[in-house]
Amino acid sequence: MRTPGVYGAYGGRYVPETLIPALDELEAGWRAAVDDQSFAAEIVELGRTFAGRPTPLTRAHSFARDKRLYLKREDLLHTGAHKLNNALGQAVLARRLGKRRIVAETGAGQHGVATATACARFGFECVVYMGAEDMRRQRPNVERMHLLGADVRPVEFGTRTLKEATSEAIRDWIANVDTTHYLIGSSVGPHPYPEIVRELQSVIGQEAREQILAVEERLPDAVVACVGGGSNAIGIFSTFVADQEVRLVGVEAAGAASLGSGRAAVLHGSRSSVLADEDGQIADAHSISAGLDYPGVGPEHAFLRDSGRASYVTATDEEAVAAFRRLARTEGILPALESSHALARVADLDAELVLVCLSGRGDKDLAGVVARGAS
Ligand SMILES: *Cc1c(COP(=O)(O)O)cnc(C)c1O
Repeated sequence: MRTPGVYGAYGGRYVPETLIPALDELEAGWRAAVDDQSFAAEIVELGRTFAGRPTPLTRAHSFARDKRLYLKREDLLHTGAHKLNNALGQAVLARRLGKRRIVAETGAGQHGVATATACARFGFECVVYMGAEDMRRQRPNVERMHLLGADVRPVEFGTRTLKEATSEAIRDWIANVDTTHYLIGSSVGPHPYPEIVRELQSVIGQEAREQILAVEERLPDAVVACVGGGSNAIGIFSTFVADQEVRLVGVEAAGAASLGSGRAAVLHGSRSSVLADEDGQIADAHSISAGLDYPGVGPEHAFLRDSGRASYVTATDEEAVAAFRRLARTEGILPALESSHALARVADLDAELVLVCLSGRGDKDLAGVVARGAS
């Protein structure tokens, strides 16, 4: 891509002046890591011996009867979702930068758990900012983070959810930038974060591409992934972007459709498509799925939308719950409610061979699904 960190009209760095040296240092460290064979080798080894890579590709026989559907099983990754790919990779990067204190934000607690896991493994100090309201709603993940040794700090202002937790994590980073790496949880934020997270998640697409070629001897007609901040989607899309015949479909939550109904604005350090009013005031997102409940999205997705290379559609809470129940019954897999949004759009696709990123497992979502009643 042209200027690093610029994706068409999106991306960039919209941060206080004090953070520019830290972002420059991070970018230089990242470039050096990418050029160093031992960085990639360590990540592959951690994936294989700690995280459970490669994850399988599963043929779903009954979920979509008129299609050949394959599921990339990130639900089987250690800690139950794709987020660990990013957390482990950034931990290796932080160590290269000489930083042994990590700050992160978390909404539902999934990224907090992945970060706390990586920090425990690396012996790093771990501080996770979490909205007080989210801490109340996501008690089990708060307990997991505590057990993993993380300091979980409640954020008591605004809506007391992810948006404020992110602002607080950035504030901590600014104050402690010499010792601290900010481990962002999705393909969002100022350059170079969207690129770092995409590359660390591209392992999903690389494996899936090889796996589907091995069984089908051709590329899929469509690749489908749910989109919150956009990291699992960009990770699986990135290895198919050059194949024009492969359709790329992102599925947002209907109440958090930053791409479907957002406008260009700045949020958390970069310009992207954001749920905001005409004055740029950020609107609240609403989704049954905590991982999709964010008013922004990674800048590269906004670019892929504008260029027409990827399309973005939505699924409602009800459609996601129905897809969750259907996958459980037909395939013996409880998907995360986030991933269920992607599954919900499979039936509509005019495509024969479909690859879906099953970004996480659904054990965390049982209460929400059961509360919606049987279908
Ligand atoms: C956090 C999460 C998502 C959404 O994040 P992205 O950055 O858009 O991938 C999707 N699925 C699961 C299981 C998650 O935990």
